[in-house]
Amino acid sequence: MHLPRRLVGGLPTPRIYVLLGILAPLGMLILSGAMLLQLRQEAWEKAEQNAQNLLRLVANDIGRNVEILDLSLQGVIENLRLAGIARADATMRHHLLFHRTSTARSLGMIVVLDEHGDLIADSLDRPAQRANFADRDYFRVHRDRSDAGLFISRTFRSRLSGADMIGLSRRVDKPDGSFGGIVLATLKLSYFAALVESVDLGADGAISLLRKDGIRLMRHPFVESDINANLGGTENFDRVLRERQGGFTATGVRDGIRRYYAFRPVGDLPLVATVARGADDVEAEWRGKAVVIGATMLLLSGLTAGLAVLFGRELRRRAAVEAELARLSLTDGLTGLPNRRRFDAELARVCDHPGAAPFTLLLVDADHFKRVNDRHGHAAGDAVLKALARGLAATVHRPEDLVCRIGGEEFAVLLPATDAAGAFQVAERIHQAALGIAVASAGIAAGSVTVSIGMAAAPPGSCGPAVPDLLYAQADAALYEAKAAGRNRTRCAPQAPDAPPRQMPQLRLVEAP
Ligand code: GH3
Ligand code: MG
Ligand code: MG
Repeated sequence: MHLPRRLVGGLPTPRIYVLLGILAPLGMLILSGAMLLQLRQEAWEKAEQNAQNLLRLVANDIGRNVEILDLSLQGVIENLRLAGIARADATMRHHLLFHRTSTARSLGMIVVLDEHGDLIADSLDRPAQRANFADRDYFRVHRDRSDAGLFISRTFRSRLSGADMIGLSRRVDKPDGSFGGIVLATLKLSYFAALVESVDLGADGAISLLRKDGIRLMRHPFVESDINANLGGTENFDRVLRERQGGFTATGVRDGIRRYYAFRPVGDLPLVATVARGADDVEAEWRGKAVVIGATMLLLSGLTAGLAVLFGRELRRRAAVEAELARLSLTDGLTGLPNRRRFDAELARVCDHPGAAPFTLLLVDADHFKRVNDRHGHAAGDAVLKALARGLAATVHRPEDLVCRIGGEEFAVLLPATDAAGAFQVAERIHQAALGIAVASAGIAAGSVTVSIGMAAAPPGSCGPAVPDLLYAQADAALYEAKAAGRNRTRCAPQAPDAPPRQMPQLRLVEAP
């Protein structure tokens, strides 16, 4: 019986249950939040890695093809210096000029322009066409400068084929070093499109090829207005030039979209390739997961916390009900005074406490109460008992004094730290209170209710498990004596003057003073 009570006493309070019930889901929320952040981080790392890998492939391919085209250009320039080529017929001249350029044909074509910009030969071996390209940037650069080396033009639309392309050109010097025209290799944008056509970079992604002065030559997916756009001087492009190779996340200069940019130079050429991934695209898959996981975790956590609160409330309600039941089990229903059970426990507690004595017990019994019932009815008897209870309660003033109803018309008054002399004063007040009871509705007038009181005092040092029964028996015997002596009086069980400590005095009845 004691073990479970101890166990129950050791259980956490409802408040702790509620706290745990809220902290646990809070912990789960924090954990899942950390996991989601980790997943987001991984999504970014994967996207950055993929972008860098793709960039390497694209830059290498472009670099290699530009190198091949440049070798072809140099080959044509060497062939132009061959003796007798000017006198050769068209077929022979075409063969002599372009026999080393076949590998580049899929990329575009090679043309030779004279010093006026007129087309004098092209690698596709088509019937001679009259065309002049003196206005093109690739022509003017070489005409005006002898040290331009390999020049990479802006993107332009071919006057011969109508295709979009960029030009790679080198200057042709006459034997005297003066400007003798140019050799131009074209690289179609369709080559770039074919290179990356199967790559899906999401709605905001793009692969670009730029000149180092910021001119965008190619872009996948193709956006007409982006071609030849000048990004030179923008914060993002300056950073690309400064850092040469790497990646960063920034807002697009032209469209304000946040992207991750991977960038690297193309070989030793004045070109930069970039792969951009839209931040929204990178996070799209993660965001879907985050919404589902986050919502589920929030729901479950809310549910758990809600249940914890409900559980705590239920525990509190039960505790309140149990407390009320415990109180009721120790309370007399008619008078509201503590009942016999409470009296027994309290008497045992006081008697078990070595320093508690002296203390006094009064047993109060209404005189001839049967007659009250018989004459005035049971309800009137109840009213008298209630009035008597109130009167008894009013006679004691210390918080530790205890007034109980221990039977039908019997009451007990336990007075800790009170000797017989003090208790007699209380007993006298009780007699007066009883005499003051009147129930007008039942025709019970003041002075008609009396009580007899038996008193037993425990001298200092009284302590032990036998004391309650002994003290009660003494008080009961004294009460019997009071009844026998004519009622409406107090009798006290005598104390032996030389009684040793811890031993109750011998019973001897005396008149009340
Ligand atoms: P005595 O002076 O010797 O104590 O006589 P008494 O009639 O008071 O004693 P007795 O023990 O013969 O009768 C007690 C009576 O108290 C019996 C019963 O009618 C009445 N009584 C006990 N409990 C209640 C109660 O709750 N309400 C009412 N109205 N009467 C009660
Ligand atoms: Mg009685
Ligand atoms: Mg009685």
